[in-house]
Amino acid sequence: MISIRDDFPILRRTFRRRPLIYLDSAATTQKPGKVIEAMKAYYEMHNANVHRAAHILALEATELMENTRKALHTLINASDPAEIVYTRGTTEAINLIAAILGAAGKVAPGDEILITEMEHHSNIVPWQMLAERTQATLRAVRITDAGDLDYDDFLRKLSPKTRIFACNHVSNALGTVNPLAQLISDAKAAGVITVIDGAQAPLHQHMDMQALNCDFYCFSGHKMFGPTGIGVLYGKLEHLKNLPPWQGGGEMIEHVTLARTTYQQPPYKFEAGTPHIAGAVGLGAAVDYINSLDKPTLLKSENELINRTISGLKQIPGVKIIGAPQTRSSVVSFLTKQGHPHDLGTLLDQQGVAVRTGHHCAMPLMERLGIPGTVRASFSLYSNSDDVDRLLEGVDKAIDLL
Ligand code: PMP
Repeated sequence: MISIRDDFPILRRTFRRRPLIYLDSAATTQKPGKVIEAMKAYYEMHNANVHRAAHILALEATELMENTRKALHTLINASDPAEIVYTRGTTEAINLIAAILGAAGKVAPGDEILITEMEHHSNIVPWQMLAERTQATLRAVRITDAGDLDYDDFLRKLSPKTRIFACNHVSNALGTVNPLAQLISDAKAAGVITVIDGAQAPLHQHMDMQALNCDFYCFSGHKMFGPTGIGVLYGKLEHLKNLPPWQGGGEMIEHVTLARTTYQQPPYKFEAGTPHIAGAVGLGAAVDYINSLDKPTLLKSENELINRTISGLKQIPGVKIIGAPQTRSSVVSFLTKQGHPHDLGTLLDQQGVAVRTGHHCAMPLMERLGIPGTVRASFSLYSNSDDVDRLLEGVDKAIDLL
């Protein structure tokens, strides 16, 4: 079995003389040394503002940032680097696209925006805000008790009034992998704009924008071994060319007079102000690192760990796994008969096992499932069997205490 743990300095941390167990990678992944070093080297050797000054440091900083854009475009098989718009993360990418679709008049009173019951708040609230602004209606596709999308309900709700369909690639709360190819092709056949929240996908799913054929796809650097504060809005170039800008300011303009302004071509049209240059450098190092990995083998062992976790948890009396999706990725959510999820999380924390508890920014999903929240163990390519053993041991002990 191959292991990449040595590449991640933080995984050497201990807690009460035992390795600290990190099972919260869906919240954010840990960072390889190469990403940390690349950001340090940027500040030590190349720091300058991009695109502005004709001096060597500015040219280097600009080149570093544009290299990452190219690497991202290759990673996700976009058709042009100009389809990669830098944002602060998934949340900002979804807000950006919701705002400009609204500004472009793509949603009118009486229209419908379709989301699903299993969305993160980031893929609910921006659409709710857009619906309020435009007097449109927000509708949500139901999920089954197993935590899969109800495809018949999707087909029923995809109506002639639907303008936008926004859906996650992978649910951060249940691990459900959505059948995007089918959903996107149905939505597009109905003339509906498709926006995918891919926050949980880049390390775990095949990323191919041209094959997926969605209109927009959003993801965050910090969930794919990169730094926080940088993410991506991918958009088909024809759309990006035709949509209006979002924020106004430096960098996004072609020419400004006091009377009017003309704008740059995409992606710069959507990147007002000084960007997170060091973040882009770190994200570039993360993409290089991902490209150097034997991903199929690492994913296979990650899936084995997940299966072991599920069968191990099932053997502990009083534990209930939440959701049994047809295809699962990287996440196991569960509850215990004894105690609130938060109590279990605290007891695990005291044993050096880091998990997430609560509603996972998916309150409508929790309401649909009739639960206050879950305990969520989430894995990444560096997770190992010790993580699973310590989680199971920790849950066992916690239940005894509750
Ligand atoms: N969508 C999903 C499915 C997520 O898991 C997250 C992060 N928890 C987000 C959106 C928001 O990502 P960010 O906080 O990086 O903007």
